[in-house]
Amino acid sequence: MASYDVIVIGAGPGGYVCAIRCAQLGLKTACVEGRETLGGTCLNVGCIPSKALLHASHLVHEAEHNFDAMGIKAAAPKVDWEKMLSFKDDVIGANTKGVEFLFKKNKIDWLKGWGSIPEAGKVKVGGEVHEAKHIIIASGSDAASIPGAEVTIDEKIVVTSTGALELPKIPKKMVVVGGGVIGLELGSVYKRLGSEVTVIEFMDGITPGMDAEIARNFQKILKKQGLEIITGAAVSKVETLKTKAKVTYAMRKDGAENTIDADVVLVSTGRVPYTEGLGLDALGVKLTKRGQIEVDAHYRTSVPGVYAIGDVIEGPMLAHKAEDEGGAVAEMIAGQKPHIDYNIIPGVVYTTPEVASVGATEEQLKEAGRAYKVGKFNFMGNGRAKAMMQSDGFVKILADKETDRILGAHIIGPVAGEMIHEICVAMEFGASAEDLARTCHAHPTTSEAVREAAMACGDGPIHA
Ligand code: FAD
Repeated sequence: MASYDVIVIGAGPGGYVCAIRCAQLGLKTACVEGRETLGGTCLNVGCIPSKALLHASHLVHEAEHNFDAMGIKAAAPKVDWEKMLSFKDDVIGANTKGVEFLFKKNKIDWLKGWGSIPEAGKVKVGGEVHEAKHIIIASGSDAASIPGAEVTIDEKIVVTSTGALELPKIPKKMVVVGGGVIGLELGSVYKRLGSEVTVIEFMDGITPGMDAEIARNFQKILKKQGLEIITGAAVSKVETLKTKAKVTYAMRKDGAENTIDADVVLVSTGRVPYTEGLGLDALGVKLTKRGQIEVDAHYRTSVPGVYAIGDVIEGPMLAHKAEDEGGAVAEMIAGQKPHIDYNIIPGVVYTTPEVASVGATEEQLKEAGRAYKVGKFNFMGNGRAKAMMQSDGFVKILADKETDRILGAHIIGPVAGEMIHEICVAMEFGASAEDLARTCHAHPTTSEAVREAAMACGDGPIHA
């Protein structure tokens, strides 16, 4: 038995960042992880592998669609799928090994195996029980099934995102159930690689919760790229035939039932918190109705000395949100007073174009009865975007009508996921749209579109 200041359960972005921050703050720390490699969902079967495939497939698309227009003569690209998957695996390996290196550097013990909490102050891993003054649960999430539908996921023909990241071959026909971020990213990968992709979404539009104007635009652009998108449709059944699957769905407006065949069906209807095997019931840790671990503003659960962070608690299921909570709980345990502004957590969809958001949507401001103004700027008016052949999309900034303080920003366009951060920083500092508009931006950059959208909140942009 070993004794620690802190034991973290789960080595995803929440858990591993928490463990490193604890160690940096002088706490004797261990991290329990049942997977073969560190890094959790994000590094192994989430953010990182999906971005490796998005990047590779984006280059295929560029070569097929834009090279000729730029005067690049090359033979049509051929995809070696096995090699693309091994490129993705190499990227995963480099990242997970990187976390292992950081654990060693910070003298964090990796307790290999699945952990449970037999009582407060104790963590059991395999046959061994370890002691800890503080236990942090960062056990993450798992893919959800389709609510109310008959479906068996075999990870071969009917897959979650995990199976979709290692299909033995590129499917001819893929049906994606759920038009959220994960489904659209992976759907885009296969579309670019030649699959016929149909997305079936229950709501009346894709990416529910996103600023509606941006979401409508996004849907149009994806359709233009060849993605078939059926909205307002409830999937009731996914049957696995020998080498295919049949999806049955009903249109919500009139109940009309349809079926569609596919070589692969990707179920991407969201994720659910993962708490299996931790022994939370016996320990007396309270869960919310949605199965998340209930915590207070200091990430404390209902059991003293036991904390929870990341996907397993409420809030957006995002790696950077988990990381920030990991850092914050470590600092709280060390006696500091960190603070996370949950209103300024960016969200990004890594399709082409990318979509990035932070803060309030227009719908949220309307619902709150807040007086606001909108500044927009189209990438058609941005020289750099034109030079990149990526002038689809626009920047939209929402600012308080009276004070001009930035309340939210939504970007659909090239490198939106990078550009959003200047708005995050501005919002952290309580900046006005005019502050952004008066900040000199390098030319030619896509970020100039952000500046011009900020100008549009005032006297107006220059290039529109
Ligand atoms: P996780 O990363 O899920 O890690 C939890 C870890 O705990 C796991 O490794 C698990 O094995 C381990 N564990 C669980 N129980 C135990 C136990 N009892 N004992 C030992 N170990 C245990 N987010 C983004 O921000 N950007 C993206 O681009 C993005 N892309 C994604 C793409 C896909 C396909 C998916 C599925 C997710 C994506 N996400 C993305 C979401 C992101 O992966 C999660 O929000 C993030 O991983 C949550 O971190 P976490 O530390 O809370 O949990």
